[in-house]
Amino acid sequence: MKKILIYIAILMIVLIIFPSIFTKKRNSKVVDNEQTISEKKENTEEIVKYDYSKFATIKLLHTKTNEITELPIDEYLYGVVSGEMPANYEFEAIKAQAIVARTYTLYQIINSKGKHGDADMCDNSNCCQAWISKEDRLNRWEEDVRTSNWDKITKAVDSTQGKIITYNNAPIDAFFHSNSGGVTETATNVWGGTNFPYLKIVETAGEDGYDQYSSEVEITKDELVNKLKEKHPETEINFDEENCIEIKEYTDSGRVRTIKFGNIQIAGTEARTIFGLKSTNFSFEINENTIKFKVIGYGHGVGMSQTGADSLAKTGSNFEQIIMHFYDGVQITYINDL
Ligand SMILES: [Zn+2]
Repeated sequence: MKKILIYIAILMIVLIIFPSIFTKKRNSKVVDNEQTISEKKENTEEIVKYDYSKFATIKLLHTKTNEITELPIDEYLYGVVSGEMPANYEFEAIKAQAIVARTYTLYQIINSKGKHGDADMCDNSNCCQAWISKEDRLNRWEEDVRTSNWDKITKAVDSTQGKIITYNNAPIDAFFHSNSGGVTETATNVWGGTNFPYLKIVETAGEDGYDQYSSEVEITKDELVNKLKEKHPETEINFDEENCIEIKEYTDSGRVRTIKFGNIQIAGTEARTIFGLKSTNFSFEINENTIKFKVIGYGHGVGMSQTGADSLAKTGSNFEQIIMHFYDGVQITYINDL
């Protein structure tokens, strides 16, 4: 009986301890491998090529020539990222921009099919995304930074190959803009309709340190009335009246939702277009002969702020943290996982 108990005990030891040794060994081997790969990446900056099985190429419409060219997605993104973000921004910010641009591209392909006929995207920043050819890009940079700038952009795109931002396993509508003025805006407050759950109002420190943060537009009273009359011929403003111009409502992010000019009331977004203001976050001053708009931030304010991304990177955030800051509840996944 005792012998049997000893056998059972030995058997238990064999069954429990041995496999755990093996498992541990196997695990540690995996860890070793991962360390080797990441060390190699850091030391040699070797980038393993991502094998795109989906969305490998983009058909790009060149709006000036009406020509359509087909190019690998990441090659297309070199032209987008270098056209959309200054190359002197932090590397992590440029990586975030690369993923945002890749995601935006995919969203357009999936959701706006047929917008440009046979092409997937156009090269106009007011329609799709800015795109600039390598030749034009290099020519516009000073000679001494040409190679280093281009290397930085291509490395940012290559080191994030295949990566996109998803929400519920679908690419997000990855809006971005230049400077949020410290706080972003919801899509609904800019374009109406229902808001996407991942586009929330978020605050970002350091936006005021950039040139894009503040601007002014000053026009004469006559010019102001004439510009309004182009869209609203019935406009009449009596500048002697108190509150002849008055902001009636602000959005939750502090931008102008509606503003009154004499006998008419328009949306802040319309005022932005009419007077060429850089954002809807503005105040105004009525002077003797002129109206001065004081504007904070640059762009619609929805999604990622580029200067905000750079500011976050400067204080130590990596591209993942930057993306998670501007898009709520999202995941960073791979194109082939869609
Ligand atoms: Zn377009």
